[in-house]
Amino acid sequence: MSSTIAPRQVTKLSPLVRRVTQDNPGPMTGSGTNTYLVGKESLFVIDPGENTDEHMDALMRAVDRTPVAGIAPSHAHPDHWPLAPRLAEALRTITFGFKAHNGYSPMSTLSDGEVVRGVDWSLKVLHTPGHVSDHLSYLLTEEKALFSGDHVMGWSTSVIARPDGSLNSYLASLERLVTMDIAVIYPAHGEPVYQARARIEELIAHRNLRTRQVLEALHAGLDTAPAIVRRIYTEIDPRLYPAAVQSVLAHLDALIQSGQVIIKHQSASPFLSIYALP
Ligand SMILES: [Zn+2]
Repeated sequence: MSSTIAPRQVTKLSPLVRRVTQDNPGPMTGSGTNTYLVGKESLFVIDPGENTDEHMDALMRAVDRTPVAGIAPSHAHPDHWPLAPRLAEALRTITFGFKAHNGYSPMSTLSDGEVVRGVDWSLKVLHTPGHVSDHLSYLLTEEKALFSGDHVMGWSTSVIARPDGSLNSYLASLERLVTMDIAVIYPAHGEPVYQARARIEELIAHRNLRTRQVLEALHAGLDTAPAIVRRIYTEIDPRLYPAAVQSVLAHLDALIQSGQVIIKHQSASPFLSIYALP
């Protein structure tokens, strides 16, 4: 993936939004974790990232002496939250999150529809489960900007992290965003997405296509998740293979829920479970 994103630099994206990208690029993180600083007179930090001295220093420099109203990982995955407690202590502020989860214990919890306010900004909290159950997105009202975490990205589709993640929740969270007036999406990985609605619709269509492909594979007699992955994902980076299996399993889960697929043999390893059409 080519990108103009350089780690540790402060990039001003709009009057109220700055980005500092962590130096942790990889197959699952793209160009690295984007940390966003929202506001001018007071700040809110979204997705502080992994706990490294380099990123800590970069964020402390970017914040300078501006008061910080809070720090909020979009969700408790290890490339999003671990720097939060340390940064909060240094900046004398509090950490937020949907719930205690996956090793992360926010000092304050947020629920869907709540609004967090600073001197010159207001962020509406949106619970957007699917990638994982504790995923929050934030809508910056003043700029119609959505901080989408791992829920919507421009460079990649989201992994449904089973068993905590769910395809049906993910699709419901996307359907909800389609109805909203969003001018720009700032994802936790990759560049801003300015065609917000088109991108969300594209992601929904992509999942519907995958569901059809999984059903077609079952029709063709393939009956395990790895076999289905080999049929559907013809050109795949081997490092992304486990994520592809997870994705196919998430589709199978949803198809089982709706009665379109059955489990013929349930194995302790989902890679070995055998699926069939009813
Ligand atoms: Zn994640």
